[in-house]
Amino acid sequence: MENCIFCKIANKEIPSTLVYEDDATVAFNDLNPQAPVHILVIPKKHFASLNELNDKNTMSALFTAVQNVTKKLGITEYRTVINTGESAGQTVFHLHIHILAGRPLLWPPG
Ligand code: 5GP
Ligand code: ZN
Repeated sequence: MENCIFCKIANKEIPSTLVYEDDATVAFNDLNPQAPVHILVIPKKHFASLNELNDKNTMSALFTAVQNVTKKLGITEYRTVINTGESAGQTVFHLHIHILAGRPLLWPPG
């Protein structure tokens, strides 16, 4: 999708620190990390948020990618977050899963 920063990252039109890629997803370091490990896993196909995700292959690919990224990094304890909508903290309207690790994480989140 035009003017979508994560589509541009997926297409390599703008740089990012890629940590993983497969046919359907890419994963890269968050620009503004909230933990020692803060990775974003995104589908290559544009979905504005989880509300728009209507493709089971992409759903499956995203969770497989999270497993592959954490395995690759040797991380067994981590938090996954999907912010959906502005009031939930979503700022980039291309579906993404945050992977956070490397420090104790509080619950409930702020
Ligand atoms: P959200 O708030 O939508 O759940 O998460 C968006 C995340 O994308 C934020 O953690 C933010 O730091 C990250 N982000 C925004 N723009 C860029 C960018 O251009 N490159 C990278 N690597 N991360 C970005
Ligand atoms: Zn997009």
